[in-house]
Amino acid sequence: MANKACIGKVLIIGGGYAGISCAIQLMESNFHVILIDSKISFLKKTQLHYSTHFPLSRLRVEYQKISKRFGFDFICSNVQITLQLLKAWQREKQLKIEGRNIEFDYLVISTGSRSSYCLKDGKEDCVDLEGLRKRSAGKFLQNLLRQDKPCPKISLIGGGVTSIQFLFEIHTWLQKRQKGFELHLFYKGDRLLPSYPQTFHDYCTNKLSEHGIHYHPNLWLKETKPDRKIIFENKQNKNIEIDSDLSFIFTGVKPYPTLFQTDAYGRIVISSDHKNEKILENVYAAGDCSSYPEGLNSLTAQAAVRKGQLVATNILRYSKKQELMKYLYPCLGSFVSLGPWDGIGWLLVSFNTLKGLSAFTVKEAVKASLGPIA
Ligand SMILES: Cc1cc2nc3c(=O)[nH]c(=O)nc-3n(C[C@H](O)[C@H](O)[C@H](O)COP(=O)(O)OP(=O)(O)OC[C@H]3O[C@@H](n4cnc5c(N)ncnc54)[C@H](O)[C@@H]3O)c2cc1C
Repeated sequence: MANKACIGKVLIIGGGYAGISCAIQLMESNFHVILIDSKISFLKKTQLHYSTHFPLSRLRVEYQKISKRFGFDFICSNVQITLQLLKAWQREKQLKIEGRNIEFDYLVISTGSRSSYCLKDGKEDCVDLEGLRKRSAGKFLQNLLRQDKPCPKISLIGGGVTSIQFLFEIHTWLQKRQKGFELHLFYKGDRLLPSYPQTFHDYCTNKLSEHGIHYHPNLWLKETKPDRKIIFENKQNKNIEIDSDLSFIFTGVKPYPTLFQTDAYGRIVISSDHKNEKILENVYAAGDCSSYPEGLNSLTAQAAVRKGQLVATNILRYSKKQELMKYLYPCLGSFVSLGPWDGIGWLLVSFNTLKGLSAFTVKEAVKASLGPIA
């Protein structure tokens, strides 16, 4: 591994939007950077719903290629992270990977998030986000159509961005290939896209009825059964059983392995109780697995990239004994895709809503802000 006249060695665990942005920026300042990820390729998660139409390979970029392009080192390994280990790593400035000790000056944890619903592996008729990282939505749909059912029933569970984006892509895919089908959307609440203004829900529900998609609010997913049945609970605590030939579960994600609290500069803060907080001076967190005291903390690539870049800035400033920068990044816009050439988004202020074709301006602006890994 190259060790040119570097000004410090940084280990980054997790090569998603946060980890890669951090690595790229650090490389501009002559750090020796080692990126560690449990997978061999980076997945463009923000475009995962398009895998309804094309193979997953189009969304994957091998880490070897990225590391070669930007000049950092890459190790493929699944690193166990616990509170005890974090304290030890801060103390010893080294960690053991694949049987060998690797020393560092700074460590960045950017391990992202995972599905909050735990679905057992290997189901043909029921899939969650983890499953869709291994096999595209298109493959699941092709398998369903091979069964030659006259009117297959497809269900999507969840009312957030991921579920809505997949829903409209799946609708487009089915329309091109199947005469009769039923598409159902189930959601535990009554307002779709709850983190967005009411206009987003209204626009979206109009599109659902325009396309003949059945919408079932206020149903809470309880259980998926092996015989293509799903059990929901309604507001009156009554169980409702529905048949579904293929179900997509998008009930949200949670930080992995846990949510790391940081100070305003991105350094992990640990506390045994609320009084005794300790800053790990050399251990930073960025992306979905981090919570900063101020600024945009949403589980988005937009926030992940900004946090990754801030951590890189602060590692450089710390090494030069300069004052650290606070994370204050505000959300500048957001976009939800509703199938080809349609969507809804906001730019600069949340009431500046753009719909349909014009919403694509927001999409492009948000995409551009993700930098070279968009
Ligand atoms: C379908 C979909 C559409 C989305 N659309 C948008 C969008 O339009 N705009 C937007 O801003 N956001 C969007 N998001 C959210 C966005 O993808 C996430 O917020 C973003 O990926 C978070 O980046 P991250 O770097 O924190 O984590 P991730 O991208 O999840 O990367 C984490 C990395 O860490 C690795 N890792 C995890 N644990 C370990 C370990 N123990 N050891 C080694 N490696 C490990 C993983 O393999 C992974 O590569 C979307 C998400 C989905 C699923």
